[in-house]
Amino acid sequence: MTTGHPPRPRSHRPRTRRSRLLLTVLALGAVAALVAVAVVVVPFLRPPGPRPLFQLPVACGETWQLGTYPGHDDYDVDLFPIEGEAWGRPVLASYGGTVTVAGVNGSVGGRTPDDPDGPRGRGGGYWVKIDHGGRWETQYLHLLEAPLVEVGQRVEQGEQIGKVGSTGNSGAPHLHYEQRRGWEKVEAHFDGQPSGITHDDTEYTVRRTSNNCV
Ligand SMILES: [Zn+2]
Repeated sequence: MTTGHPPRPRSHRPRTRRSRLLLTVLALGAVAALVAVAVVVVPFLRPPGPRPLFQLPVACGETWQLGTYPGHDDYDVDLFPIEGEAWGRPVLASYGGTVTVAGVNGSVGGRTPDDPDGPRGRGGGYWVKIDHGGRWETQYLHLLEAPLVEVGQRVEQGEQIGKVGSTGNSGAPHLHYEQRRGWEKVEAHFDGQPSGITHDDTEYTVRRTSNNCV
């Protein structure tokens, strides 16, 4: 049986309101996304600031060997003390800045002073990254223990951030160190002088004495 009434059309008003609301939400979402992209991208479009006066990341007055080897990566620097054990030696901030990473890169592994040939970890092991402003940053890898600093912490030049170790993918205790400008790794400079570690075509070393004196 039919009533003779056609099915009642559903009112357009709620649907229109709903689609207007949807459009508003989408527009606001698009604006928010653009703002987020701008906030993230714009700082990277600014030219980098002048190079900070970085210092060797080890104790004032000590001489260390800086080296690299094929497959390491251009500009990567491995530091070994020329005297005494590397294990546990203080790792110092090259320059003042804000800690942006303090944790584990890859895995820690099991290489310790008591078990130097223990299981090798992966990647950088315990590491620290410091933002020095002007798009300059430094990185410190293979630390012995969890870093002595925390993300967001302000550090001064010469402040201890960790200890030399052999965590991550490391053959022997040493400090792997990098300086970066914006996206790029660059030749590390210490006390205003280029380190000379520029490529990884061959194995080579230089010696530098730390002027990381407070
Ligand atoms: Zn290295």
